[in-house]
Amino acid sequence: MTTTRTALVSGANRGIGFEIVRQLARLGVLAVIGARNKDDGLAAAEKLKPEGLDIPVVALDVNSDESPAQAVAEVKRLYGRLDILVNNAAILIDEPGGFNASLFDLKADTMRRTMETNLLGPIRLIQAAAPVMRAEGYGRIVNLSSGAGQLSDMRSGYPAYRMSKTAVNALTRIAASELSGTNIKVNAMCPGWVRTDMGGANADRSPEEGADTAVWLATLPDDGPTGGFFRDRKPIAW
Ligand code: NAP
Repeated sequence: MTTTRTALVSGANRGIGFEIVRQLARLGVLAVIGARNKDDGLAAAEKLKPEGLDIPVVALDVNSDESPAQAVAEVKRLYGRLDILVNNAAILIDEPGGFNASLFDLKADTMRRTMETNLLGPIRLIQAAAPVMRAEGYGRIVNLSSGAGQLSDMRSGYPAYRMSKTAVNALTRIAASELSGTNIKVNAMCPGWVRTDMGGANADRSPEEGADTAVWLATLPDDGPTGGFFRDRKPIAW
């Protein structure tokens, strides 16, 4: 008998996270929308009903000290397991100028809020999910990072977001190292530049294309990689 895998995707009420849930569900994974506003999550789930996908929703605000653990506990209570965690929720609030924002205009509050969501959020979720996965002897953790966080290509523009994604890459390596020897794989990925609220209308990729590598990492076989950074299903430089 094959096990039905259960997945929790943060920030899945729109954008790439929504598409990750759709693709996982099409593969037969019991994918759960994590949404900080549950009504937004329910509205997103409604959009998938015409495809025959009945998607559950849990409240999940990654900025909260309590909500990530509560969301993981809720999935475990409802479905008895949590096999896949996709750390997708993030913000890009650098200003003025968005992608052109300068380090010399960076406010401490912008840096703090960015790290709270983009780094502490995934830390909280990994801390909550890993014990459940350890008990099952199976886990796939996918961190949505960005080429903007690559030290090998670091440059100016939206510095808070860039530094938060570099930190997500470090988190990926640390978590993979701590979980080595288990069947819990932790990988980071860059979706490319994707047409979402964050990426904007001029981006060159669809959400479907942006979600593909995350879904691949979320469903890796037991001999798949861990502690890596990927785009288009291929390793990229840190
Ligand atoms: P998006 O369209 O802006 O959607 C972001 C999602 O994160 C929304 O569902 C949002 O929920 C959620 N979120 C934000 N703060 C949250 C919080 N405190 N708790 C829970 N959810 C929260 O972004 P996207 O383009 O889909 O990006 C998804 C991921 O890909 C992010 O990690 C991003 O950094 C990464 N990425 C994107 C691009 C790109 O070109 N789009 C490129 C590289 C990497 P609300 O609706 O409640 O705000």
